[in-house]
Amino acid sequence: MDKIVALCKRRGFIYPGSEIYGGLTGTWDYGPLGTLLKNNLKNLWWKEMVQLRNDVVGIDAAIMMNPKAWEASGHVEAFVDPLIECKVCHARFRADKEDEIKVHIQSHEGKKVEWTNPKKFNLLVKAYLGIIEGEQSEIYLRGEITNGAQVNFKNIVDSTRVKIPFGIAQIGKAFRNEITPGNFTFRSREFEQMEVQFYVKPDEKEAEKWYEYWKQNRMDFYVSLGIKKENLRFREHEDKERAHYAKKAVDIEYNAPFGWSEFMGIHNRGDFDLRRHTEYSGTNLSYKDSVTGEEYIPWDIETSAGVDRSLLFLLIDAYQKDGERFFLKLDPRLAPYKVAVFPLLANKEDLVTEARKIYQTLQKDMMVAWDDRGNIGKRYFAQDEAGTPFCITVDFKTLEDKTVTVRDRDTAKQERVKIDKLPEYFQNKLK
Ligand code: ATP
Repeated sequence: MDKIVALCKRRGFIYPGSEIYGGLTGTWDYGPLGTLLKNNLKNLWWKEMVQLRNDVVGIDAAIMMNPKAWEASGHVEAFVDPLIECKVCHARFRADKEDEIKVHIQSHEGKKVEWTNPKKFNLLVKAYLGIIEGEQSEIYLRGEITNGAQVNFKNIVDSTRVKIPFGIAQIGKAFRNEITPGNFTFRSREFEQMEVQFYVKPDEKEAEKWYEYWKQNRMDFYVSLGIKKENLRFREHEDKERAHYAKKAVDIEYNAPFGWSEFMGIHNRGDFDLRRHTEYSGTNLSYKDSVTGEEYIPWDIETSAGVDRSLLFLLIDAYQKDGERFFLKLDPRLAPYKVAVFPLLANKEDLVTEARKIYQTLQKDMMVAWDDRGNIGKRYFAQDEAGTPFCITVDFKTLEDKTVTVRDRDTAKQERVKIDKLPEYFQNKLK
């Protein structure tokens, strides 16, 4: 983990939030490489979930919602973690995180550690809206992005041509007043989620079919992004640990350096959300089948993934050592830069001009890095750490025969390629 955290800072993937002011616990800022990687991940997810499907539509709902929505969804009452406090040093922990508690007890080196009784601690982050002091209304920043889809169910049905079964996809920020943020971005107070709420007929068999379908579909997605199969597993929730809305729940976990950890969940939410929003808002959120005339409140099979946790695990899984060489073996579709272009020598105008031309041509289709500092070995080292799949070097031979050296990140092998064949070459390699 230390290596990953250091790499993220050094190369500009992820920095601590508000660092120059001493930071703000549980917040992280994505740097130039991290932002590209995150956008690539979200775009791939969106392509698979929305673009390539004809039964899912996308939305982008507001972060700030009428507070009644959070009463209806049960978050005001039940979005709680059990909080305990160490009586020796007043550090606070989640009572259900046994491993963290054990580590803390050990840190007191044999001293008897007593704890306060568990208190319910609500995770919703409060904010105040309005311009006149005293007349501001208290709202919540969304604790999960799900509600934005649920409250728009009727809008979607009325304004599009969706028919059950169908899904509403969304990517966006969520906020939680986590008791113990930690493990880098794994548990943050501000993070991003990507979700599909998939509405099906209210029928056990139908719900089970889609639950199993989404379980496999999501596992396949992460395997297709290159995460090693042996580092992924399902974990079904036991009855007592399920969230207040879930009839059934399974996590997909990653074998992280800090233990198997959840980075996404598939939940059968039943009719909980639409029924509660119907009750609390007075708006009928049932669905009418236009063929059979049947009217019902659909059940919701949700897939909910953390963008930040997915990204962290993709980075950890991609981190490779080959002899003395470290490189990030990221799927080319995820890699922040696809290609880097180097003139062999920065002070030879002919080389720089030729390299610039290649850089500008490729830049029209993909993110391309430029580096003319230091020696070629150092430049390869930097691009390996950034996960750039290919490096192009323009050398003296280029000026004679219009070919360049293309070096492959994963094998470190080099080959000569004609300049005018480069766009086609990368089109095939970067799929
Ligand atoms: P945990 O048990 O780890 O607190 P959760 O079960 O409460 O997570 P969900 O409510 O199911 O998480 O949220 C769906 C996804 O959102 C999670 O699988 C995770 O990837 C992401 N997520 C939830 N909380 C956080 C957080 N504090 N920081 C980063 N990502 C988070």
